[in-house]
Amino acid sequence: MTHIHDTIVSLQHSSPAQKEFYQAVEEVLTSLAPLIESNRQYQEQAIIQRIVEPERQIMFRVPWVDDAGNVQVNKGYRIEFNSALGPYKGGLRFHPSVNASIIKFLGFEQIFKNALTGLPIGGGKGGSNFDPKGKSDGEIMRFCQSFMNELYRHIGPVTDVPAGDIGVGAREIGYMFGQYKRLTGRYEGVFTGKSLLWGGSLARKEATGYGAVYFAEYMLNDRQDSLKGKKCLVSGAGNVAIYAIEKLYHKGAIPVSCSDSKGTIYHEQGIDLELLKQLKEVKRTSLEDYLHTYPEAVYTPASDYPSDGHAVWRYQADAAFPCATQNELTLADAQALISNGCHLISEGANMPTTQEAVNAIIDSRIAYGPGKAANAGGVATSQLEMAQNASMQNWTFEKVDTHLQAIMKDIFISANETSKEFGQPGNLVLGANIAGFRKVADAMIEQGIV
Ligand code: GLU
Repeated sequence: MTHIHDTIVSLQHSSPAQKEFYQAVEEVLTSLAPLIESNRQYQEQAIIQRIVEPERQIMFRVPWVDDAGNVQVNKGYRIEFNSALGPYKGGLRFHPSVNASIIKFLGFEQIFKNALTGLPIGGGKGGSNFDPKGKSDGEIMRFCQSFMNELYRHIGPVTDVPAGDIGVGAREIGYMFGQYKRLTGRYEGVFTGKSLLWGGSLARKEATGYGAVYFAEYMLNDRQDSLKGKKCLVSGAGNVAIYAIEKLYHKGAIPVSCSDSKGTIYHEQGIDLELLKQLKEVKRTSLEDYLHTYPEAVYTPASDYPSDGHAVWRYQADAAFPCATQNELTLADAQALISNGCHLISEGANMPTTQEAVNAIIDSRIAYGPGKAANAGGVATSQLEMAQNASMQNWTFEKVDTHLQAIMKDIFISANETSKEFGQPGNLVLGANIAGFRKVADAMIEQGIV
């Protein structure tokens, strides 16, 4: 275990004040202990020291002019973390909380997630501390164009292929793609998550949420159970949450909650999916407006959340799908879920569970799908979009969805088999981390010290 401690201490010196990044590294390294100890090659090749250091980090100024004529300045990032398995692949996040630590933790997770899909994609992530909330379309466009004025020179269909994440959807991708095309004169698959009108893939929008539910179903099937009739808590109200809710209904489950940055909706009879889409995809308004149609639903404003966690996890349910953001599920939340009878957690978000909560969940032995396995459906479908672009084809929704299901099943099998191989059956945190790491590490060794 000393290598874990040494690595974190050395990162604290070389990359100070990056707590989310250390958290992601510590979680992966802790799982890897049995593999590293039994395999001298990884130590001799300094794989751990190499894998925690991004291949390249780009940080840049993003100046733009708001509607009132004021000059605004944001910070842009692209962390090209690891290209052992393919071109850097991962989304862009636009959110005021974004800093180097957040982008590095996301990029680090992305390496192993992408490896787990079995597809030829390396790991990267980027974004900005720009807040799209409340901005006009014109402001969003000018920001995206300015962001691309720098980023375009670093990306390309066989080098680095960004996509969306929090705050970046088809609208933002459209403005960035347009500017990329203008600057380079090239019409090529340099982004995924594009509009269906010009090169996007059917089922990409749905893929992360659907994938997290497929993964949950595979975990339950392995325990001779299924999602049918299960009461499910979902957090978030973005792309991932909306399509997790949709797929839960397809599976005969009852999703009863969703949340945004301002509050949580709990609706005992089941969330009205069409109303949720209307509020969030069309009107881009607050969830509180859900009460105009359903006054009987319970709305808890964020100011009334428990001091040690999130209101959404304090309801009784069979299953939980954290689909909002990092560290949204604390130890107290995990304890509440488990003591209320929840027996499955499948993570649609990236690192939504704190390290103490992860430990408590693993100890409880409930079915637990960590984000880098359970939410890999999004990036996997991005790779299917790249394949369609490269071959100048458009696949049907059914074809993409069939591939997505097969990929999620393979990820479950690979994490589950690996957990057994290392003597901790059912511990998919360990299984996913080792299975993903092994592919990347072995590819790095074969490619030499680069
Ligand atoms: N942002 C998503 C993720 O966390 C998708 C990345 C992609 O499609 O490249 O995996």
